[in-house]
Amino acid sequence: MHYPSDLHALGDGLYLWNPPRRGWGLANCGLVASADGALWIDTPYDRPMAEAFLAASRAVPGGSDVTRVVVTHANGDHLWGADVLPGAEIIATREARHHIELEPGPEQLRALIEEAGEESTLGAYLARHFGHFDWSRTRVVRPTTVFRGELELTVGGRPVLLTSLPPAHTTGDLTVHLPDHGVVFTGDIVFGSSPDHPGDHAVHWAGPLENVIGACQEVLETGATTVVPGHGPVLDRDGLRAHIAYLTHLRDRAHALHARGVPLTEAAHRVAAEGHLELGLPERLIVTLGSEYRMLDGTPPRPMTQVMTEAADFAVTHAAARTSGHSVPDPGHARA
Ligand SMILES: [Zn+2]
Repeated sequence: MHYPSDLHALGDGLYLWNPPRRGWGLANCGLVASADGALWIDTPYDRPMAEAFLAASRAVPGGSDVTRVVVTHANGDHLWGADVLPGAEIIATREARHHIELEPGPEQLRALIEEAGEESTLGAYLARHFGHFDWSRTRVVRPTTVFRGELELTVGGRPVLLTSLPPAHTTGDLTVHLPDHGVVFTGDIVFGSSPDHPGDHAVHWAGPLENVIGACQEVLETGATTVVPGHGPVLDRDGLRAHIAYLTHLRDRAHALHARGVPLTEAAHRVAAEGHLELGLPERLIVTLGSEYRMLDGTPPRPMTQVMTEAADFAVTHAAARTSGHSVPDPGHARA
């Protein structure tokens, strides 16, 4: 893959490094430049991408010495690149520090891909979507500063406001508000999409969606005019409102289908066929609607491999249904 060597200037020393396409693991990262020590907001997933972001950071004024990293949540695609900055302060929520211990590390993920084998549906899915990342030199860095609630940093004399969230995308998310810039980095509370640059379906591991929607509304309430999502294109306020409408639709459909006893897999197929056809990775609906079903059922989280196996199966079935012109694989059930 070709990684961007340039940063996109958002004004007043704030920059964005955004990967060239959509897909798993390709997160947006921010740089707040300052001669007194710069700050990263999230890191890329693997070492080659992190080194590309680091080189791009060093090429802009005030980007030569990155001393702090804010990690919006504990998923590797936002954290694992931090080891290119030895000695940097790593800032995350208290819950994220705990979550890191529960997430499969690079070696475990690599082993999972190899053990599943490309002849299995899960193995083929993981190889296709994660096999191109290079974690051979990746060492997972732990946060050095954790907080709960709010934390205000200053970079180059400008405020950077961190707010921890209740369980939403994961159990340890935070948002980064730069009031002087009118910008919020949302982490994976938001998956960006626009008519020019369609993104992917949202994947929310913790939920409930009510918390994700609430976090998006709080971003709107900051008054920020530029919203940098965890993945996908930068949004304006209308773009964020459209995303809130999408999340609200997912929540309402999940609740309606659950109330009618529609099994999760079938519910995901129905929602995938109903709209937002421009979004990639519809198999993520298994995860996101599954989190909502789990909340409604009052059941604990299921193992990640089990959820991803169902998502991989969904991807195969969904692709086959689209090819054959059948949007829902089980037409025997009436629409809920
Ligand atoms: Zn992510």
